[in-house]
Amino acid sequence: MAFQIDLNTLMLCSMLVTSTCGVLFLLEAWRRREIASSLWWGIGFACSTISLLFYIASSAPHLDWLGPVGNGFVVATMSFIWVGARSFNGRSSAVVPALAGPCLVILVPLLMSRPLEAWSGAVLFFFVFSFYSLMTGFEFWRGGANRYQNALILAVTSSFNGLYYAGRGGVLWLTSPDHPFFTAYFGSKVATIEVMLLILISSFTLVALGREQTEMALRRAATHDGLTDVLNRREFVQRAEQSLQRLAVTRAPATVLIMDLDFFKKINDTYGHPVGDQVLVMFAAMAKSTIRASDLLCRHGGEEFVVFLPGVGQRRAIDIAENIRARCAEIAIVTERGTLRPTISIGVASAPFSERDLPSLIAEADEALYLAKSEGRNRVATAARAA
Ligand code: GH3
Ligand code: MG
Ligand code: MG
Repeated sequence: MAFQIDLNTLMLCSMLVTSTCGVLFLLEAWRRREIASSLWWGIGFACSTISLLFYIASSAPHLDWLGPVGNGFVVATMSFIWVGARSFNGRSSAVVPALAGPCLVILVPLLMSRPLEAWSGAVLFFFVFSFYSLMTGFEFWRGGANRYQNALILAVTSSFNGLYYAGRGGVLWLTSPDHPFFTAYFGSKVATIEVMLLILISSFTLVALGREQTEMALRRAATHDGLTDVLNRREFVQRAEQSLQRLAVTRAPATVLIMDLDFFKKINDTYGHPVGDQVLVMFAAMAKSTIRASDLLCRHGGEEFVVFLPGVGQRRAIDIAENIRARCAEIAIVTERGTLRPTISIGVASAPFSERDLPSLIAEADEALYLAKSEGRNRVATAARAA
């Protein structure tokens, strides 16, 4: 069974698909009030539709020069998706590099090839398009392929497109536009279908990526403290209780540290609330870098933080607490009112075989903290001594 479709009809179909996807994409982006990256992607889709208009028009007599212009707009489609991907990653827009490729693809054949032939500048066009596709693939890959499933899909499809167009450029360079191998695998019809599928996948995936990013931000806001970015109390309790249950099976120990910054009210009164906030942020970052990734750190409230150390008994926990205390004492914040050196008091409570529940461990660590405060602050105290 042989299928026949002429190139102009195929291009018309492609244009309808592309512009419909573009409009649906922009409506979704507008509804979600996402401006920066969506705007660039919307411009990309618009360039794709414009390119097909130029292609269709270029088949008219004396309008063959519109062919390279169409090629330029195809390149602009990808270069603006690349700009959008950079913007999605919080990087600068790079509009000038995004316009350089399309201009090159339009101007080189118009200035160099006299008279213009059907495939003038095509090799350059394919390689430049491939270049922006690979750059886009790379940008999505480094921007969040490990966090966002949709970024991974975009990285793979953009890179595939880049490789396909590199192949297109290479084969055309080595053979000719009417070579059977070129027309079978890299000709205009195959490429139009390939780009149409790319646009289709991209438009859906870009919308899904925006949603995925919002969902992740909401989830993070629901589980982390807004100022210090450590776990909030509810998330901490949930994770620590799950961890305690797992530890109970293997009868492994667990330890809770309660850490309270000393004379924090005075810090606020002397240096101002923003400096107090800075102390909280710096302390949280230091504590997080001191413990293991598998340990849990939360802001329990105000200037009080709690650490849960799974599998750690009292002896090692005291060393860890002492390390945090010493590193806190090394923090120095230079202010207009002199250098501020915050200190911390830490209460330690261990459950040798995790037979304890979390609230009683926290209560015991709190008693130890009280002891550390009453003994003069800037020290570590254990629940054993508190008991
Ligand atoms: P102690 O050594 O006994 O712990 O004394 P303290 O002053 O640290 O304890 P107190 O409980 O009297 O004061 C805690 C202060 O922490 C009071 C409150 O204004 C301040 N605080 C709570 N949350 C924040 C915050 O998010 N930012 C800032 N800057 N201060 C906060
Ligand atoms: Mg305090
Ligand atoms: Mg306190």
